[in-house]
Amino acid sequence: MGYFDQKEPPRREHRLQACIADGGTFSEVANRRMRCCLPDGERTFAQGNICLLLPALGIMNTIPDSVVLMHSAIGCGSSAHAGNAGVRAGNNARWGVLKDGTWLSTALTESDVICGGEGKLSAAIIEADKRFQPAVIFVVAGCVPGIIGDDIDGVSEGVQSQVAARILPVHCEGFKTKIWATSYDAVYHAIGRTLLKDAAPRAAKSSNARPVVNLFNVSSMGRPDEVELKRLLELLGLEVNIFPVFAEPAKMAQITQADLSVSTCPTHDDYLLRYLQETCGVPYILKHMPIGIANTGLWLRDVAAFFGLQEKAAAIIAREETELAAALAELTPAFAGKKVFLSAGEFRALATALLMGELGFEISGIRAFHHDEFAAPEYQKLDQAKSKDFPLNIANCQVFEEANLLKRTQPDVFLGHMNGNGTAAKLGITTSVIYNVGLQYVGYKGAYELARRLYRQLRNPGFNRNISKWTVLPYKQQWYGQYPFSHIKAAGGEVDG
Ligand code: SF4
Repeated sequence: MGYFDQKEPPRREHRLQACIADGGTFSEVANRRMRCCLPDGERTFAQGNICLLLPALGIMNTIPDSVVLMHSAIGCGSSAHAGNAGVRAGNNARWGVLKDGTWLSTALTESDVICGGEGKLSAAIIEADKRFQPAVIFVVAGCVPGIIGDDIDGVSEGVQSQVAARILPVHCEGFKTKIWATSYDAVYHAIGRTLLKDAAPRAAKSSNARPVVNLFNVSSMGRPDEVELKRLLELLGLEVNIFPVFAEPAKMAQITQADLSVSTCPTHDDYLLRYLQETCGVPYILKHMPIGIANTGLWLRDVAAFFGLQEKAAAIIAREETELAAALAELTPAFAGKKVFLSAGEFRALATALLMGELGFEISGIRAFHHDEFAAPEYQKLDQAKSKDFPLNIANCQVFEEANLLKRTQPDVFLGHMNGNGTAAKLGITTSVIYNVGLQYVGYKGAYELARRLYRQLRNPGFNRNISKWTVLPYKQQWYGQYPFSHIKAAGGEVDG
């Protein structure tokens, strides 16, 4: 029985032995092949965690003609407010319309916890269908139904015949996993079990038809990045089908007919890519992330090699690299001797570190949100490319460890997610977002645009320096003298690094 035959996808802790707690020098951690902490990796003290609902909503809210119905306490939807800016901007960039995502909640109360919320859920599905007439309704389970035993799959099946929309049960019970990347599997699982289930077998194509490539984006790229990758793939003569963000439900099954699936971040997509290969015969490439000059070339070469287009790819890469080198020439002298700290999902942090090295920065530290097997090649690349060793932290939201590391390593720039730059800013370090839907990061254009932004920020670092004069972090001085990973069980307790 395959994963997609089950109601819920497995946790990534089990499927991939992914973990969230480790720390040491880059060489130390990378060379012990990231055998992290105890199973279910833990700390003796932790400040917070990220619920898998956040990235799952980041995908679902973009889907046109959909309603996201959360079966949960109402607060579970809070991140949908912040995420809506990306949905509006994405709709505007793609279709020229400022359209919000539509999300509802059954707003479970204490009495629902005692008496059960299944009746409320079926009534809400029927009401959502009547009011919004969507193509699909994502019925999303938060923690509460997982605890009290509400069966979202059973309810969805029970009311399916009463509504026009296709119902997609999505399991995002936050307490079940500490690896937020499980959210991608949860959404793919729901789409695979419903919208792709009855797709026709992959049809034979005429020999002169343009090959079609599925390009995967789970919302870790904005529209400018999609345009850049589409540009490069089209230069190879390929047709590009972007999935799943902003993909129309009625057209989702098209991915089963493609000639190849290409991931832009191996951490995101293996669950669906393997399914597509096993059930529909669509082969896939899941290896490099097209962030950075060398990595973009490797990514494009792999796709080209699949279609026998190596020479064409070599010519495109040579032309793009020459043009980029000329454009970067006036910027890179400003980066010599500057240190950068990176914080992001594992693959993105490592790939961006390689790009920073290409631009002339020294890496002062990396914090990756979790670790799994997919990043092994990136560790090897960075191990070879780095000029000196630096700390590596596997941590999701452990800001106290980050503050300690930043005090020790004193970077000139901190690159992190937009809601994760506060600590560095309070320490007076120049900060730049590692991802924003309106900005460019991937491909050759992304390398240039990131360099341009960093050049401008480093020329005028006064803003965060002024912030640091008027703010303090909540930690005692004593903490900064301690080993930053002393609360990670596998890091050896209080052993000083
Ligand atoms: S699903 Fe659970 S962990 Fe996630 S926001 Fe809701 S209550 Fe919190």
